[in-house]
Amino acid sequence: MITDVSLVDIASPEQIQPSAHSAPVKVSRRRLRVCHECDLLLALPRLKSGEKAECPRCQHTLVRRQTNPAERSLALAFATLIALVLSVAFPFLSFNISGIGNGIALTDTASALMSLHYPLVALSVLLTVIVLPCLYLCSLIWLCVGMTRNKLLPRSHRIARTLGYMTPWMMADVFVIGTLVSLIKIIGMADIELGLSFWTFCAYAILLLLTTQSVDRDWLWQHLDPEPKAPNHAQLGFSASLQGLAGCNTCGLVNRVSSLGKARCKRCGELLHPYHGVNNQATLALLFASVLMYLPANLYPIMVTTSLGDTQASTILGGVLMFFQHGDWPIAIIILTASVLVPVCKMLALLWLCYIVRQPKSVLSPLSRNRLYRITEFIGRWSMVDVFVVAILVALIRNGSLMSVEPGAAAISFTAVVILTMLAAILFDPRSIWLHTAPPLTHISQHASSTKSLSSTSKEEPHV
Ligand SMILES: [Zn+2]
Ligand SMILES: [Zn+2]
Repeated sequence: MITDVSLVDIASPEQIQPSAHSAPVKVSRRRLRVCHECDLLLALPRLKSGEKAECPRCQHTLVRRQTNPAERSLALAFATLIALVLSVAFPFLSFNISGIGNGIALTDTASALMSLHYPLVALSVLLTVIVLPCLYLCSLIWLCVGMTRNKLLPRSHRIARTLGYMTPWMMADVFVIGTLVSLIKIIGMADIELGLSFWTFCAYAILLLLTTQSVDRDWLWQHLDPEPKAPNHAQLGFSASLQGLAGCNTCGLVNRVSSLGKARCKRCGELLHPYHGVNNQATLALLFASVLMYLPANLYPIMVTTSLGDTQASTILGGVLMFFQHGDWPIAIIILTASVLVPVCKMLALLWLCYIVRQPKSVLSPLSRNRLYRITEFIGRWSMVDVFVVAILVALIRNGSLMSVEPGAAAISFTAVVILTMLAAILFDPRSIWLHTAPPLTHISQHASSTKSLSSTSKEEPHV
């Protein structure tokens, strides 16, 4: 039986050092957190099931409390894993033209690409759709089984550290959209039959989203390893890095760090990333590489179609134009958005953010810039739609000279663009957006009232 962990009583009350702006006040008995996006030092309010705590400055969600988190995640992870097994075990789609048919299983999308010597694209499909979600689900089941039995299974800490890294790369939902686009593309030219796995895959994609949303990382780490005492003299409502503090991106613990050398979280052992000023070189390097890859991605064909001996190569933009000409506006808009607008807008937005963080003034407020960054981070994965369309069509349409589809050279460079832009967004440090912003609150009591209002749905008792 899991009992909820108290969110208070971690540190004993003590006096903090007054700043130039603030009067001495008692430090909170609550657990401290550093906002991952704006570096503000905060104290977690007491949260009930279904409530969440948001940063008062950038509105980043710090914690989202779930009802019965272990049992909920365990049930969802089991159901998702069963749906995944069913999706792999049965036929996914079948294609029939002039009496010659071809049926595929889900894994054929990757193996067909591999047999045509496109290992990068094949690996991307296999990892994002099957392997990483499968690892994630098994890891979650391992952790939750230990917690529901009140006896952790071996290596639980190490496994818990990997969960956050896998989440952005799981793309079953994008694959569903890719499948629908593929079906619309070929529905007029052949008989298409949806296999049992198609339906179980749709269920799997929805369940996978519900499973990732069910994970309460704060609760999870509190059960794996209760939080040690908060650092002394921490001043709420101010930048953590200016106080020599850094929040752990994995377990959330606030650690005191020295300015020299690398530091690790004293609870989970993860490498800490204290803020040392604007450093977007990695993001810029990845963006530069993605711009270079974007040129061949558009200049070379992404797909080569052979129909009755007639071979036709189509670029990404050529495919969009073809849909427009055939009157398939919705599908043309989906491909145009996912394959052209999203990568270009993402690269431009990140480049602009990298430039603007060094400027004291900007046309957009820090909050608007932060929202732009969040949108950039969120939309990047949807560009994989076109890669999945190619993978499905290549596996499905293999009827020799009658009709067949092969990937073009652009498939490799476009996959590289998606991966590189996703990495660039992950490595961009949003804390630099708030560099020229004054601390939002002048003293602790103001900050405390903001903290209560930030957990908009919470009705927690006062803690300061
Ligand atoms: Zn924040
Ligand atoms: Zn940690």
